[in-house]
Amino acid sequence: MTIPQHIFRAYDIRGIYSEDITGNIATQIGQAFGTYIGGAGKRLVVGRDVRLSGETLENALIEGLLSTGCHVQDIGIVPTPVLYFAIVHQAKDGGAMVTASHNPPNWNGFKLCREKGFLIAQGMGMEKVQEIAVTERFKLGSRGKLEKYGEAVADYSNFALGKVDIKRKLRVAIDTGNGACSGIISKLFRDAGLEVIAINDEPDGSFPAHLPEPNEETLSELKKIVVEEKADFGIGYDGDGDRALFIDDRGRIIPGDITLIIFAKYYLEKHKGAKVLYEVSCSSSVEETIKAYGGVPIVSRVGHAYIMDEMIKENAVLGGEISSHFYFADVYGFDDALYAGLKMAELLSKTSEKLFEIVDSVPKYPSTPVNVYDCPDEKKFRVVEKLTEEFRQMGYKIITIDGVKVIELNGWFLIRASNTLPQIKMTAEAKNQEKLKQLTKFAERKILEKIREI
Ligand code: MG
Repeated sequence: MTIPQHIFRAYDIRGIYSEDITGNIATQIGQAFGTYIGGAGKRLVVGRDVRLSGETLENALIEGLLSTGCHVQDIGIVPTPVLYFAIVHQAKDGGAMVTASHNPPNWNGFKLCREKGFLIAQGMGMEKVQEIAVTERFKLGSRGKLEKYGEAVADYSNFALGKVDIKRKLRVAIDTGNGACSGIISKLFRDAGLEVIAINDEPDGSFPAHLPEPNEETLSELKKIVVEEKADFGIGYDGDGDRALFIDDRGRIIPGDITLIIFAKYYLEKHKGAKVLYEVSCSSSVEETIKAYGGVPIVSRVGHAYIMDEMIKENAVLGGEISSHFYFADVYGFDDALYAGLKMAELLSKTSEKLFEIVDSVPKYPSTPVNVYDCPDEKKFRVVEKLTEEFRQMGYKIITIDGVKVIELNGWFLIRASNTLPQIKMTAEAKNQEKLKQLTKFAERKILEKIREI
């Protein structure tokens, strides 16, 4: 059976169940991943989110892995951070999570990890796994052993609770959207001494309440509850529980980069001079705050595979993305939305300030939402390359770690080719509206010019 190539994406494998991804394809991916990781005797952990196709695909994937001689520990339904934790904590050789993160219910896929929870992404092993899967060059061995393990969440909870110190009882409202965190985070938070109001807290792969993508629309009920129930804060989780969108006590969703600033201030007080990672599309106020609090700001490519990698290499204490993935050295450097919730409770328990006051004290600059320009896949990367060259020749200060970011005194814009769609994306931020308008216009004119030219 031929594997569709388009399911192999920048950070994971994803597609529509029964069209792009079937049981047979899952087995082949298991064989490819098992071959890639080294086969006979390698020890892997496999978990899944709540999707209705999850059990079928997980079992099929495990079959493929066992056939290459890998030993598999099946930890069942868990949030993705618990899978990462299980890999690192038990010093396994890698693992796989069966999930399509925040995609609609009929989607599914796989996040693949190496040792220490490092993600297999493009430029970091994904091409190799894809090649083995497509050419079917599997190295099969004598069948590995399968172990079912039901204590992964308990192991994680014990570890995480040992790292937090919550000084007083706070009230937190959460919406796990019937996803992989349902029933797990509410218990973890109660065990941490918090008062929890939980909605959509029953695992259900049909996602009856709303799509597993936390945003203004899907979290509208939670925002209301936070205000009505006078909660200290709220959190909306995505389908596999690796993203946490925080809501302040006024019912406002806090952008991921502002949340990172709140964590950075807190961590840098205790960890003087520590490194904090953020990605290129974060607000300038992230870099400014890290510097103002004596930390070392390090900018990374967008995407959790890259940030996790840098967290370990740079020995950073904290990291974050605008998309609300947060990384903590406390929990081995991977992105952990469960731990982010505990840490937010800890920092609020040690101050008399309300979360809305903390949010309002962060300097915020006018920015554009992401602007999208259609550009064929075969052209999009060349367009960005040519633009980079042009801006360099024009004498601009640029960062080329991910697309091209042009930095001026009072603002910046970032141009990137979309990893998944035939599009070029542009965002901008400036210290005032006038500058923002000028930057946006300039960037847009340049992008359209290049698309026509090439
Ligand atoms: Mg996710």
